[in-house]
Amino acid sequence: MHLARFPRVHLAHLPTPLEPMPRLSGLLGGPRLWIKRDDCTGLATGGNKTRKLEYLVADALDQGCDTLVTVGAVQSNHCRQTAAAAAKVGLDCEILLERRVDDSSDVYENSANVFLDRLLGAQVSFFPGGHDMKAELIAHGQRLEATGARPYLIPGGGSNAVGALGYVQCALETLRQADDLGLVIDHVVMATGSTGTQAGLVVGFTGSGSGVPVLGISTRHPEATQIANVKRLVDQTTAHMGLPEVDVEHVLVNDEYVGGGYGVPTESMVEAVRMAAQTEAVLLDPVYTGKGMAGLIGLVRAGHFDPDANVVFLHTGGSVGLFAQESLFDGA
Ligand SMILES: *Cc1c(COP(=O)(O)O)cnc(C)c1O
Repeated sequence: MHLARFPRVHLAHLPTPLEPMPRLSGLLGGPRLWIKRDDCTGLATGGNKTRKLEYLVADALDQGCDTLVTVGAVQSNHCRQTAAAAAKVGLDCEILLERRVDDSSDVYENSANVFLDRLLGAQVSFFPGGHDMKAELIAHGQRLEATGARPYLIPGGGSNAVGALGYVQCALETLRQADDLGLVIDHVVMATGSTGTQAGLVVGFTGSGSGVPVLGISTRHPEATQIANVKRLVDQTTAHMGLPEVDVEHVLVNDEYVGGGYGVPTESMVEAVRMAAQTEAVLLDPVYTGKGMAGLIGLVRAGHFDPDANVVFLHTGGSVGLFAQESLFDGA
């Protein structure tokens, strides 16, 4: 595995810290919980999409493109980081937002990530929930081409074999940090959505022979669907990198914390967001990391981990989204 073979631009503050969470570990009575701070990647409030964009933007520049085009839910962290990446390297950016979450409040539609999309200079347009955003992305690209622009289309979440390289790189970075700390990582737990993060981590942690299992807490799909989705991108990523196939047994997903669906709040998410804030001053988000942390807390309480285990939670960012949904935490 030799990542320097793949073009990359510098967007993120790396390495992100790998730190212990002693107060949260103490409150839950073990195991030893750690946090990998990919909320601190630094690009216009950071998050996990920044690592993917280092490879995607490099590809866009190599192809001579002048406009990044991407899709997401209204409060997409991915779209905000794409707008930021475009601003930083001097490309135009067009963002297509799907009203996937049933919240048409002025705050939800205009503040937090949407406010930042516009502040960063992106063109933003809205589509109804359930709209075929993949087809819309392609059609939008064709419209731009007809005007003489050179669009670079980024799929939702930046999750393709190019974007996933960012999380192969993150796995290798995390292993280097753990080796320096003398830390044996027994488990990595994270929130999984469009799959690029988990797929990249699985390729990095298995391809390096580390034996570190990665558990994705689903934020949208049932377990079987999410495993199939992650596995598909793992296969595309190993093919892109010229690596041997990874067995599907390395793709671990828990779907018990999705609740009513993508972006639909759950009690365990609200509890997890509060607990992380009040024990570690770590700010999670309502859609992804709050549910991911709810999964970690639930599994710890259920005795899923050995009490002496070292469990690393990957903080994938998103806390800007808190400001679109403050009312969920009334009386926090
Ligand atoms: C996009 C996102 C995720 C999920 O990552 P995927 O690569 O889409 O699976 C998790 N957390 C946050 C905050 C995100 O914005």
